[in-house]
Amino acid sequence: MLNCLLKQSSKLVVGRIHRSTTTTLFVFNRNLSKNNFHLFLNCRQILTNSRPTTLFQSSINNNQKFAIHTSSKIMNKNKATLIGVYENSNNKDTFVFTPSGKKINSSVNGLIEKQLNIEKGKVRILYDLSPEFPVVGIVGLGPETATFNELEELDEKLENIRSAIANGVRSLRDLGSIDEINVDGCLNPKAASEGANLGLYYFDELKSAALKKSKVELHLLADGISDENEWNAGVLLSNGQNLCRTLMENPANLMTPTKFAQIAVETFSKLNVTVHVRDKAWAESMKMGSFLSVAKGSDEPPVFLEVHYNNAPNTKPLVFVGKGITFDSGGISLKASSNMDRMRADMGGAANVLSTIYTLASKKSPVNIIGLMPLCENMPNGRANKPGDVVTAMNGKTIQINNTDAEGRLILADGLCYAHKFDPFLLMDIATLTGAIGVALGSSATGVFSTSNKYWTMLQKCGVETGDRMWRMPLFNHFTKQTTDSQLADLCNIGKYVGQGGSCIAAAFLREFVTCNSWIHFDIAGVMDNKDEVAYLSKGMSGRPLRTLVRFVEEIFENKAF
Ligand SMILES: [Zn+2]
Repeated sequence: MLNCLLKQSSKLVVGRIHRSTTTTLFVFNRNLSKNNFHLFLNCRQILTNSRPTTLFQSSINNNQKFAIHTSSKIMNKNKATLIGVYENSNNKDTFVFTPSGKKINSSVNGLIEKQLNIEKGKVRILYDLSPEFPVVGIVGLGPETATFNELEELDEKLENIRSAIANGVRSLRDLGSIDEINVDGCLNPKAASEGANLGLYYFDELKSAALKKSKVELHLLADGISDENEWNAGVLLSNGQNLCRTLMENPANLMTPTKFAQIAVETFSKLNVTVHVRDKAWAESMKMGSFLSVAKGSDEPPVFLEVHYNNAPNTKPLVFVGKGITFDSGGISLKASSNMDRMRADMGGAANVLSTIYTLASKKSPVNIIGLMPLCENMPNGRANKPGDVVTAMNGKTIQINNTDAEGRLILADGLCYAHKFDPFLLMDIATLTGAIGVALGSSATGVFSTSNKYWTMLQKCGVETGDRMWRMPLFNHFTKQTTDSQLADLCNIGKYVGQGGSCIAAAFLREFVTCNSWIHFDIAGVMDNKDEVAYLSKGMSGRPLRTLVRFVEEIFENKAF
């Protein structure tokens, strides 16, 4: 009987029939008997009218009929192996196998090598190499000599592995018949794990079962070399980033401040993390007039979420504040309607804080961190802030609100004031704060403002390692002057010169609420979502720069850099 891999859509079954090294693709319709498939009449037409068109490789005669009986052996082809190959820098026409690939290639008598012709990031799938390897995906890892690129501020070898492995697991998943993939560690199991686990992520929680992507289990390909712990570290980091993506993707009607807090309570219930869900009355008692002024424009009650994870006794904490606007309409300074749905992710700062602490606690990292997440909607109801309104923040500073869409800094102001109560050695905040950072940096890097050269240097290195880069922006007095020059109050929430240095103005504004010696502000509006820029992240909310944040916090405590 011919060997055949079957992928079933609603009516059609697409089969690949293999004869030695050539593959022919046919379309079958289902016979009455479950294990029989008959060639669909007029295949050409069907293929043209259905999605697998691009897979079609050779035509067949109309009205040709034959049956294919699927044996149990064939139906068990649900396990795939994914290996990487490097380009040989000395000879472009040949390839360099990873240790795993080398072993598999020799176990199938060099069949892989004979059929190989692959470019960086591209995937090839080979079938029936042996009973042990019925489906093998091969991905191009690019040049074997790739390394740290100073100008790019990237370790290109690691980044190539992440991208190629992501592409490989997606291609195998999309066959529809695979439910388990053993992934080549490519001598960098953590990067391979990140590529695989981030690459497969797809937010389809709210879709019907038929529209969901099939679930695939991922394992490190046992090769006697790769360290399983490294792979598992990659899994935990990816899980953290994927949690962040899910929080950000969820629509605002389902991801309210209350719901976000519930998820925090559930997420941390099994971990060594303390959660305090503070309500509006608590925020009033703390005199958080700036945060509450934004919250009052919506019917959804605000929440101030406070999370403690201390696995480093006798240390001061690092306090991390995240902007949690669960929907940003702009308020009375209403945003344009086009793409306003993206503003469901305006809680990306809070999502990063929650997910960072989740990842650190899952890894049992020896760190001491407190997360603060002011959560509310920015909506234009009858009680909403009006342009020109003046509110008073927790530290007594008055703020003239000239644009109600610059609300992130209003809620962060009170978050930062409150953070000092814990006497942190380092205070950080993170927010999808300004469109201006996207204008400046696109989605290439997170914009970072730091009052500490020491921490900036450490942070930059972490970005190189994870591939999720940081770029330093200025905290000049030049900008401070433009936000402290307010007609009615101590500060204005937008700069004097509209459209000039918006990200820097926002950072200068926040700095007015910081007395801690070391402070870092992350503006993640530019890296909030992914189109196709980062190959190992699918289209949608990115969960960036979660892995860099986790690495950075760990690095500080590992080096006792307090
Ligand atoms: Zn806004």
